[in-house]
Amino acid sequence: MWTEAVDLHSHSHHSDGMWSPTEMATRAHDNGVKVWALTDHDTIDGWAEASSACDSLGIRFVAGVEITCSVEMASSTHNPTSWHLLAYFPNGADEKFSTWLESLKDSRIPRMKKMLEALSEFGHDIEFEEVFSLAEGSVGRPHLARVMVAHGIVDNVRQAFDEWIGDEGPAFRSRPLPSISEAVEMVHASGGITSLAHAGYYGIPLDVLLPHLKVLRIDCIEAFHNSHPDSMRFAMMTQGLPVTVGGDSHGTENRPSPGRMPVPLNHLHPYFHP
Ligand SMILES: [Zn+2]
Ligand SMILES: [Zn+2]
Repeated sequence: MWTEAVDLHSHSHHSDGMWSPTEMATRAHDNGVKVWALTDHDTIDGWAEASSACDSLGIRFVAGVEITCSVEMASSTHNPTSWHLLAYFPNGADEKFSTWLESLKDSRIPRMKKMLEALSEFGHDIEFEEVFSLAEGSVGRPHLARVMVAHGIVDNVRQAFDEWIGDEGPAFRSRPLPSISEAVEMVHASGGITSLAHAGYYGIPLDVLLPHLKVLRIDCIEAFHNSHPDSMRFAMMTQGLPVTVGGDSHGTENRPSPGRMPVPLNHLHPYFHP
């Protein structure tokens, strides 16, 4: 049996999404979603609002976060700068996990300052406070891109990434990231469930990736991600790990709202069943 009532991967303006947790929860509800997770990048600041929005809407809220980790395995075909681990917390996050997550967010600030220094060397002076003022939670490149548009350095956000702050751009700077195994350990210690986000993004053949995920003690694989073709979803589904499903909506044009993501119930991790 298949369901479209579950979407476990969404972003709000607490990271790089367009809208509030309430708006995203409402959009999920309007698409028929009954079990919905907010998974902002490296922050849980949206949980309280998302949870009360879901209560009012009568849908189940799953407390989640998407943790940016270092590259775990080299790929011969892809060149990602990070791997993303989804984490879900049936009992909420404990103090130790929250403090650890906060320490990751802090590392975003020195990184942003380094990127501003780089832009300044090209004659584009932007104050850190201006970028930071756009960030509700953790400051990141989308906030900088918007300031670059406001300053007339670029015409739009895409151009900011293409020409300046994308992974190959002259003003791109990386930040220190936790390893996947460190993140898995922290999530498990807090009673959480882990899933490798958009598992097709890293360019690792499944017969190499899956045994490694088991070594890392990752609980699930996000086989049913918006970016995966059906053939990839099915291939990942049959590798012996439970799956999760994620539209990865940021509220933007290409995927404005959560939901409309079919997933087979017998492969979905039982915790997320509607
Ligand atoms: Zn991601
Ligand atoms: Zn995401």
